[in-house]
Amino acid sequence: MSRMTVAFVTGITGQDGGYLLERLLADGLEVHGLVRPGDDLPAEVHNVSPQIELHSGDLADGERLAALVQEVAPDEIYNLAGISSVALSWREPALTGAVNGVAVTHLLEAAWQLQECRGRRVSFVQASSAEIFGQPATSPQDELTPVAPTTPYGAAKAYAHHVVRIYRARGLAASNCILFNHESPRRPPTFVTRKITQAAARIARDGGGKITLGNLEVRRDWGWAPDYVDALVLAARHVGSDDFVIATGRVHSVAGFAATALAHVGITEWERWVETDPQFFRPVDAIELVGDASKARDELGWTPTTDFQGMVNAMVDHDLALLSASTRPR
Ligand code: NAP
Repeated sequence: MSRMTVAFVTGITGQDGGYLLERLLADGLEVHGLVRPGDDLPAEVHNVSPQIELHSGDLADGERLAALVQEVAPDEIYNLAGISSVALSWREPALTGAVNGVAVTHLLEAAWQLQECRGRRVSFVQASSAEIFGQPATSPQDELTPVAPTTPYGAAKAYAHHVVRIYRARGLAASNCILFNHESPRRPPTFVTRKITQAAARIARDGGGKITLGNLEVRRDWGWAPDYVDALVLAARHVGSDDFVIATGRVHSVAGFAATALAHVGITEWERWVETDPQFFRPVDAIELVGDASKARDELGWTPTTDFQGMVNAMVDHDLALLSASTRPR
């Protein structure tokens, strides 16, 4: 009898981890996930917990990671764990370096050791980030854009990005998916996109409160998180390993995001509902990040399924439904 394909996922309790878990189970894989001791499991992980195996550990604990990878013996490793907020990386720069950077070396080494001792391919996919490009001089960015980060988050991701390439050169099937921003109803409200969609739902419901934001001119290439998770899976199973930009190629400003969310609840004069506060401006912020995903399209066959409007509408609808559920009499 042939053995089931085994996947090991770090960051399984995060936005992307939940979607990846659902995708891997649908594909019939045996799924193992790393969770931090004391983690509260989100509903999407809790609901399928009898079908998966959760292992307690911290990404920064190299010995634990090495032992776990040997024990689980995965065919596919997805490294999604990390401090995912650029804002938080300014408050915790050294921790960000340890978790988003150095820890990835532990995981790559564990994958390499497993491949050496089992003599079969172990594929490794790293959730790299557009933040590795810092304030790029060219637009759109692709796999050849110089890596020149300008934030602690970007620097840590850049280190990991390079180590993935080093292990690829050594013979590990290790790919970097250079993910541009991607959102969903599972994004925490600490991120500007979810903060906006929650506020739009609240304003639609009771007309109260303004949305307080940072720099409205910042422009990002925002995609739909489940599409980006599909790209990770395609990269893991691709015959070769490589770097792939995963992006929509379309750019919108924070102001445009707010206008779209408010328009979805019938408000056309978005400026009346939005104010700015210097505390939400970042020390350094690339004004525009937009990706060219032609390589992922041509080599992985990846294309996004949901456009900007569809993504914003889905997030606002979700927040409206949450508000209705919380105010419904029991
Ligand atoms: P997320 O929702 O913040 O999830 C991060 C995950 O990492 C959580 O499961 C968290 O676990 C785990 N984690 C954090 N520190 C850890 C540690 N020391 N040990 C073990 N686990 C740890 O992030 P996401 O949006 O799903 O993003 C997934 C990955 O893609 C991240 O690496 C992120 O940097 C990268 N990325 C995301 C975007 C985007 O737009 N979403 C763009 C580019 C790159 P807890 O539940 O214990 O906190």
